[in-house]
Amino acid sequence: MNTVPPAGGPTGPGNGPFCGHCGGPDGGGLPASDEHQRCVELLTLEPPRYCANCRRRMKVQVTPTGWSAECSRHGVLIR
Ligand SMILES: [Zn+2]
Ligand SMILES: [Zn+2]
Repeated sequence: MNTVPPAGGPTGPGNGPFCGHCGGPDGGGLPASDEHQRCVELLTLEPPRYCANCRRRMKVQVTPTGWSAECSRHGVLIR
């Protein structure tokens, strides 16, 4: 039985940036892949679910003006 590692490749978790929508690795300076192109579009409409720095799930609150997303480690992100 082979254990298939989670999508993400050799860098592994803990080395951001990560995609705020799906939590996958986000290129690190390379052009966004087609895969995350969709995520980027969604992130213009929806709050991110994952911290781009540490991939933790963020606590999202929708506000009258937009949203705020809080990472327990990196603080609040507001849009
Ligand atoms: Zn993504
Ligand atoms: Zn974080």
